[in-house]
Amino acid sequence: MRIFRILSASLLILSLGVNHLRAVTKTTRLSSATQIRTTDNNNDFTEREKNVVSIPTKGLFDGKGQVSIDLSKIHRGDWAYPMKNGKVISQFGRRGRRSHSGADIKTHAGDTIYAAFDGVVRFAKSYYGYGRVIVLRHSNGLETLYGHNSRNLVHIGDKVHAGQPIAIVGRTGRATTEHCHFEVRINGRAYNPMLFFDSETQQLRSRRFVAYSNGRLTHENVVPENQMAENKEK
Ligand SMILES: [Zn+2]
Repeated sequence: MRIFRILSASLLILSLGVNHLRAVTKTTRLSSATQIRTTDNNNDFTEREKNVVSIPTKGLFDGKGQVSIDLSKIHRGDWAYPMKNGKVISQFGRRGRRSHSGADIKTHAGDTIYAAFDGVVRFAKSYYGYGRVIVLRHSNGLETLYGHNSRNLVHIGDKVHAGQPIAIVGRTGRATTEHCHFEVRINGRAYNPMLFFDSETQQLRSRRFVAYSNGRLTHENVVPENQMAENKEK
């Protein structure tokens, strides 16, 4: 296990080194409709993007004001549930007169928070009630947010890989217990993170979303490719 960690750490350092030499734009292997250009260079984020949590993503929508986000095309290893064995203690949505913009995932103090997908760190500092918070911009059109951290492990402009440690659980900001406040945003708007992840199984849902610039979000379930292959063989 230790050898594996050392190996993967050195591989990471290697790949980070290589990435720095490469061109600054990156696209994903997702369908062309969801290819959002992300940048490796923090100079490509505007001052507002570096200083405001909730902000539209420039160039996200097509001419019809839509973007399609197909989670079923994201391979295993290219996503990670942000907290291993974390239990959701507070759901997204209305809390009396206030609304909760994410899901609260409880684990133990000092546990590690992992990047949900490959992406670039857009925001990394303290921000009002969020406490120490990280926002990642992903090339699939989503942004994910991780709040109340005791420590942030990455900086603005850093490229991160799915499953990479990005922060340590804490209770900074407006929090009464150690937990990770996890958000999924599209164009700056927060949606229920458990539309994307299943909190029971801690799996990414096999779903295709269409997000509209007016905030509407639709989705359909998709049979995963590996299951389709199995069915054909029968
Ligand atoms: Zn919360």
